[in-house]
Amino acid sequence: MPCDRVVHLIEDTRFRDHRSPVGHPERPERLDALSRAAETFGGQIERLPPQTIDSEALLRVHERALLETIEDACAHGVSRLDADTFLSPASIEVAKLAAGSVRDLALRVARGELQTGLAAVRPPGHHAEAGRAMGFCLFNNVAIAARALQSEAGLDKILILDWDVHHGNGTQRSFYDDPSILYFSTHQFPHYPGTGAFDEVGTGRGHGATVNVPLPPGCGDDEFVALLGRVLVPVTEHFKPDMILVSCGFDAHRDDPLADMLLTGRGYSAMTQLVRALADEVCEGRLIFALEGGYAPSGIEDGTRAVLQALLDPETRVPLIPTPPPGSNAGSVLKQVATVHGEQYPGIGAA
Ligand SMILES: [Zn+2]
Repeated sequence: MPCDRVVHLIEDTRFRDHRSPVGHPERPERLDALSRAAETFGGQIERLPPQTIDSEALLRVHERALLETIEDACAHGVSRLDADTFLSPASIEVAKLAAGSVRDLALRVARGELQTGLAAVRPPGHHAEAGRAMGFCLFNNVAIAARALQSEAGLDKILILDWDVHHGNGTQRSFYDDPSILYFSTHQFPHYPGTGAFDEVGTGRGHGATVNVPLPPGCGDDEFVALLGRVLVPVTEHFKPDMILVSCGFDAHRDDPLADMLLTGRGYSAMTQLVRALADEVCEGRLIFALEGGYAPSGIEDGTRAVLQALLDPETRVPLIPTPPPGSNAGSVLKQVATVHGEQYPGIGAA
């Protein structure tokens, strides 16, 4: 069958100019692993140039003081903002390029110019809060893109799916009282940064528009697919977003040195198929992926290949959703999510 699907990829050598201290896991070479995976698809992947971002788009999410702090720090050779968030002289420009590229990809998909794509950017973004860079993140790329979709493309409701192994505290905080942007996260718990418990559900009008699925160590393909199938699907069908943004970390891969999950390419492929089918069902396929974490070259390469393969497949199919065995980790997590969110999203837990 001829395949007319095209996946767009934003990758650029400039994302390597954000230099890390020796031995730091968030290093430029991460992008080499991603490129190796993309190269295997030849001409099926179309490259897009990165784009920088203007202050107006950045300041929809961040405080001006954060922008100025990072600008000043880069200009004066400051190399660290906290114990693990580093800077090099070019970091401010690279961080603007990361945020601008995710925003550009999102807007172009929203406007129907492109089908879907992956923004292979550094630094990652989901830990960055309005006024604070942290956890290797300077600006919150996905949060900025979500606000841009509302302000610049006229979309109303956005769903952010964050399957990075760490909880995206910055994204959650950005929209905690906002019913128009639903933040859904699977993450190891307890783990860095400490947030993301079941009962963090949003506040005020945003109550229920934050859905946390905290996982014990050792969850693998079946647990992740079971939980997305039985929680993300009913939540998304109820919320009916206009677009889905995936905070796509690869650090829940079994090879990753910073966490204890067991995902493989099989799991990333099934999760991508599932979210692609959901996007086709509820928002005319409007879906993009933005790189977050992932620190094992083999895990990034395996995960990227799985995501791209699933996006390029001409057929959309929902993977088989495994039944969590009684007493399994996934079963008890599912029960707790249903207890917290079942009233608002009655389909949680159903096959
Ligand atoms: Zn992470």
